[in-house]
Amino acid sequence: MSIPAEVAKRRTFAIISHPDAGKTTITEKVLLFGQAIQKAGTVKGRGSGQHAKSDWMEMEKERGISVTTSVMQFPYRQSLVNLLDTPGHEDFSEDTYRTLTAVDSCLMVIDSAKGVEDRTIKLMEVTRLRDTPILTFMNKMDREIRDPMELMDEVENVLKIRCAPITWPIGCGKGFKGVYHIANDEIILYKSGQGHTIQERKVIKGLDNPELDTLLGGDAQDLRDELELVQGASNEFELDAFLKGELTPVFWGTALGNFGVDHMLDGLTDWAPTPQPRQSDERQVTATDEGFSGFVFKIQANMDPKHRDRVAFLRIVSGKYQKGMKMHHVRIGKDVNIADALTFMAGDRAAVEEAYPGDIIGLHNHGTIQIGDTFTQGEKMKFTGIPNFAPELFRRIRLKDPLKQKQLLKGLVQLSEEGAVQVFRPIDNNDLIVGAVGVLQFDVVVARLKAEYNVEAIYEAINVATARWVECKDAKKLDEFERKCSLNLALDGGDNLTYIAPTMVNLNLTAERYPDIIFHKTREH
Ligand code: GDP
Repeated sequence: MSIPAEVAKRRTFAIISHPDAGKTTITEKVLLFGQAIQKAGTVKGRGSGQHAKSDWMEMEKERGISVTTSVMQFPYRQSLVNLLDTPGHEDFSEDTYRTLTAVDSCLMVIDSAKGVEDRTIKLMEVTRLRDTPILTFMNKMDREIRDPMELMDEVENVLKIRCAPITWPIGCGKGFKGVYHIANDEIILYKSGQGHTIQERKVIKGLDNPELDTLLGGDAQDLRDELELVQGASNEFELDAFLKGELTPVFWGTALGNFGVDHMLDGLTDWAPTPQPRQSDERQVTATDEGFSGFVFKIQANMDPKHRDRVAFLRIVSGKYQKGMKMHHVRIGKDVNIADALTFMAGDRAAVEEAYPGDIIGLHNHGTIQIGDTFTQGEKMKFTGIPNFAPELFRRIRLKDPLKQKQLLKGLVQLSEEGAVQVFRPIDNNDLIVGAVGVLQFDVVVARLKAEYNVEAIYEAINVATARWVECKDAKKLDEFERKCSLNLALDGGDNLTYIAPTMVNLNLTAERYPDIIFHKTREH
């Protein structure tokens, strides 16, 4: 197949939701439809022995949360879908943000008993940076939920995106009967207890069908009246507005009962964009442009304990990856042979022969690849927009055995390359400061230092409020700043100069005193 034909088939998306809204459960059902797994496993039920296939690491199993970002590819109807799993826990938001730079659309999952929750609000803000198209799944219809109209209003008012119901729920909780598919004018019936299988769609054609009256009795007319109201009060689906991120198609169902997920997948494959262009410092790169290009948005160490390797996740932007091809590693200016990139089928790794725009491939990384790196077929350009956020939590890290300083530093620098944590080395002393966006990252780092680098480290409290990456166009002024503020300056894992502020007040005063210095809240790798 030609590259344009391969591009046309692909949809690359991620799921955004508040913890417990049902992301893992939906992922399983989506894979079930993709036939990637025969029987969807029980959702990470602690102690049940079964875990969702997207949860890899031991730690995730213990804690029952997704730490890693995994990638799953599966066929659905005529399309090939890439689903990028985002860590659900608040503590890993940096990874999540970067993953969202690698997708072309998002599915927002909402717990219909709860409505819009704070984590969803945060994630939606991130998708807004690139106007990513959003589909919405209102989950847990098998429970007593809030009024559907009110839920849609809440999405519109809080998230500032117009809602276009594609389906509409008939009842909820024990009385959940199914949905009315507005565009297809058909009622799709729900049967409980079928969550582990793909059910044949039981359909009643037409809202006026007398079968509906047999099924619902007097409620049938109420449903017809309600739908008239709903259609009057809500938006019709407009593809253009969806693609601009201004309007979201809304689906209702239950992930646990595996109902409605396929309606959403139909919408995703019909409407979500094919692999989209990405901006580089030289030009905008379109999927069908000639020549291979891609960027690394995630590095993960030791995904498979048997392999003990590090894998860089690269999103292909243009061209074709072919096994054994030569790629240009732009940052270090070298050509590298990529003999064995990986693809990810629900956690199983397989060598891939070829891959196309929108696909994610895994490159074995022996320490030369960093988050944000661009690979091309020789062109010197760098993709932009892959953020690194200023950490908000800091600890001093200290060894139990002082002889292992070298291993500690090596471990910390590698973990910071991965984006698992940020490390700062003050210019004026031998401390090592670890910075994180979420508190759980600290535990992860100590556990991994022990398991992977054989060093035992402990934390001490440190008086740091925030860090800023420092930039100054005027070398002389920078020099002066470095001399006068050396007590507060440090180098990060990539040797970039940072200002370590004990308090926000200190930061503000310093910024006032040195107006020529720019203090960045994010570092673009
Ligand atoms: P995540 O944290 O967003 O990945 O959420 P999970 O998929 O792990 O779901 C959280 C909890 O909600 C689990 O106990 C699920 O079994 C449950 N759950 C998910 N979907 C549904 C649903 O449609 N109905 C009901 N009743 N429970 C659900």
